[in-house]
Amino acid sequence: MLEDKDRIFTNIYGLQDWGLEGARQRGSWDGTKTIIEKGRDWIIDQMKASGLRGRGGAGFPTGLKWSFMPKNVSPERPHYLVVNADESEPGTCKDREILRHDPHHLVEGCLIASFAMGAHACYIYVRGEFIRERERLQAAIDQAYEARLIGKNNIHGWDFDLYVHHGAGAYICGEETALLESLEGKKGQPRLKPPFPANMGLYGCPTTVNNVESIAVAPTILRRGPQWFSSLGKPNNVGTKLFCISGHVNKPCTVEEEMGIDFRTLIEKHCGGVRGGWDNLLAVIPGGSSVPLLPAAQCQELSMDFDTLRNLKSGLGTAAVIVMDKSTDVIKAIARLSHFYKHESCGQCTPCREGTGWMWRVMERLVKGEAEKKEIDLLLQVTTQIEGHTICALGDAAAWPIQGLIRHFRPLIEERIDAYHSRAVPGVTLAAAE
Ligand code: SF4
Repeated sequence: MLEDKDRIFTNIYGLQDWGLEGARQRGSWDGTKTIIEKGRDWIIDQMKASGLRGRGGAGFPTGLKWSFMPKNVSPERPHYLVVNADESEPGTCKDREILRHDPHHLVEGCLIASFAMGAHACYIYVRGEFIRERERLQAAIDQAYEARLIGKNNIHGWDFDLYVHHGAGAYICGEETALLESLEGKKGQPRLKPPFPANMGLYGCPTTVNNVESIAVAPTILRRGPQWFSSLGKPNNVGTKLFCISGHVNKPCTVEEEMGIDFRTLIEKHCGGVRGGWDNLLAVIPGGSSVPLLPAAQCQELSMDFDTLRNLKSGLGTAAVIVMDKSTDVIKAIARLSHFYKHESCGQCTPCREGTGWMWRVMERLVKGEAEKKEIDLLLQVTTQIEGHTICALGDAAAWPIQGLIRHFRPLIEERIDAYHSRAVPGVTLAAAE
């Protein structure tokens, strides 16, 4: 469990001053110039050594990602850092806490990361619904300009401009290439990769897209050293992480904890336990709506880290933990997610455009049991035809929750079909329907 001395986000609940003065008292902007004077290579090496994996969901090593940017900056092709503050994954509410309560972590991180990648400009793409968050972030950026921490001829010796771009509320703009399209003023539709943004990103120039949390933790890692960060958590899953726990717990919250904390401790210590006690737990979606759920039996000793959850055919994703107790109609819950992905599909590729709607319609029938049992396998088969066959990961995100449901709750789905048919044909008992 994380000790207070190891917390990076010490104002995540907004109990102290969010502004520059308060941020400085909490350690932000301390020795930033010294970090920058150590050079680009030093910063990237330190980030690699820290073992930080991207906090946006994919868990790709951050330092390695930064190292993909070309070493030399040509005058015709400037480098850009783009920060993904689109945070639209259902269940996820961690980056917004950084934006509104600890924004200087992010502003300082943008300067340092941009310097490390040779970028003189950075864009922060903020989710459309985040009005107050955007205002707070802009206020923090204005403070930083005024104090000459950023901008032209700033005290750190690296000319740097930071822009906030407000999205219009489309989930798909959280996908990095759709985000770049949107930033360029186009329809937010994902691009085919390759080319990857490090070669051809914003305006066709080398670009790195990082999550808010990944950038916001960088200054503290560089100040305290990679060994400190990598000493927390588990091998290959190190450091601290913001977990956002929602659903059927007594006190839903966002909390910074050590990677690899076990699920039970996380819920008991920070959320006051499962509503109605642990015997009332039905299932958990451990990393935002796109990852497959896990049944209660697999959650007792669960280590909340990338590798453990992947081995269980789920994922840590954004660490948005959605807890469901036994009052949940889990088929209906997953059907609701299917509707979400159908609604948010950008429509570019056929398996996603057609498949998300088809899956949702079947899921709606499964909620009522108005289906044949053989349709469960058909549905499963269709999910595998969508997964991995689309331009971006929204196809996977639509398929995985359904796969998780069928993997762990097939008997429940079958039971509901039986119940429906026994009601639909008066006089036919469950056993006879079999
Ligand atoms: Fe658009 Fe869906 Fe294809 Fe992604 S997978 S590009 S959201 S149609």
